Amino acid sequence: MAYYAGNPLNRLSYLRSSAAFLASALESNKSRFVVYDSLNPLVAAPLPDGTKKLLLLKWDDLKQYIVGAEGNAQELFKGVDGKEEVELGRVPSFIKPEGGKSIAELTAAERRHVFINLPPLVFLGVDERSAPASAKSLPLSKPDEHSTLESHSPYGVPYWSFDVTALSELKEKLLKENQGAEFADMRAGMQTIPNEEASIGAEGRALVDWNKRNLFCPACSRPLRSVWAGWKRACVPGEPSAEGLDAPPACISKKGVHNFNYPRTDPVVIMAICSPDRESILLGRQKVWPKKFYSCLAGFIESGETIEEAVRREVYEEAGVEVGDVFYHSSQPWPYPSSLMIGAIGVAKEGQTIRCDLDNELEDARWFTRAEVLAVIEAGPAKQMSREEVAQIDGKEDAKSTPGGENTGGEEGWFRMPPATAIANTLCVAWAKNTYLGAAQSSSSGKL
Ligand SMILES: [Zn+2]
Repeated sequence: MAYYAGNPLNRLSYLRSSAAFLASALESNKSRFVVYDSLNPLVAAPLPDGTKKLLLLKWDDLKQYIVGAEGNAQELFKGVDGKEEVELGRVPSFIKPEGGKSIAELTAAERRHVFINLPPLVFLGVDERSAPASAKSLPLSKPDEHSTLESHSPYGVPYWSFDVTALSELKEKLLKENQGAEFADMRAGMQTIPNEEASIGAEGRALVDWNKRNLFCPACSRPLRSVWAGWKRACVPGEPSAEGLDAPPACISKKGVHNFNYPRTDPVVIMAICSPDRESILLGRQKVWPKKFYSCLAGFIESGETIEEAVRREVYEEAGVEVGDVFYHSSQPWPYPSSLMIGAIGVAKEGQTIRCDLDNELEDARWFTRAEVLAVIEAGPAKQMSREEVAQIDGKEDAKSTPGGENTGGEEGWFRMPPATAIANTLCVAWAKNTYLGAAQSSSSGKL
């Protein structure tokens, strides 16, 4: 299974609009919170074997920051179904309007400030792995004002994500009270965070990020309010748009389906392209990548393209190679920020010459033999990226030599590939070991 896939939570998406259910799932002493600082989840001190797990908080740890001393969760989710025209939405107690004003007394500009500083709170789902089959998300229970966690998922452990980036005091307290805990860079932590933990962390990260980056309506510029427990953002009609409050234009997002109001998943094709005789594979490298690091070609699917067409276009634009047959292999959620990596294997046409001067995205692309790729796979973690290299690829640091890169710098014929947690590695292994169309076919012929 791909890293970040296999999320164990039952998302119960049909209950995201039930204020009663959400309030019950929030205040339950079973509820668990994944908290993020600048999109990095809080993880506990490493276990003796070096692995790291999410440090999950409880309602008691966070309630004063979410509803305040006197607040209640029912009030918090008022209008969460997005049907009522609730003007201001929830305002956590720690956001104190300046000058002792009540929220109703704020100017439009002040209200806008409050809106854009609301930390995202997202319902991720319930963990029902300990539930008997008969008690999992009861199928005939329609949500109503009496809905509770008990009535819908009696054994469920609710999971939430909450953004604590702006809560300095809380962050300090958490790190002080939990020796060795840290807000970890998930991408660099791919080598140490077990997949199940990472898949929950990835869901929360993508949703916190989406809520924080979509503050205003793309149709009319009004502030957006989080509804559906963080899974939709709704235009607030009472707020001023860029056109001013006096002559507010009607917002098109109030009619029909508008996908900009929902969390996005952007499809990306990533492909292992083999030579016409299937004995070599085409890999490329960008200039900013660590030394000798090569990977599968990849790119966003554009509007009006099929998966196969996007694979052929990207390979031609990046490496000048025309591709014939294309096969879907597998996919991987990629929360940086919100992609779905669609893994494919393609076969190059005869007589192709590599050239990288069309879109100049790659510094180099070349064919690697099966023996070369197998040697790197067998070398295992020695060829994986370090945390510093991840930062380098993300553009956070200037390109420079790293300890990992130096290890292979002098070895002729050696190169480095993405870690086993990346789908590029999965595709290369599937090609190199001839497992991509099923073991029976590959063992009989060794080829497609
Ligand atoms: Zn709007």
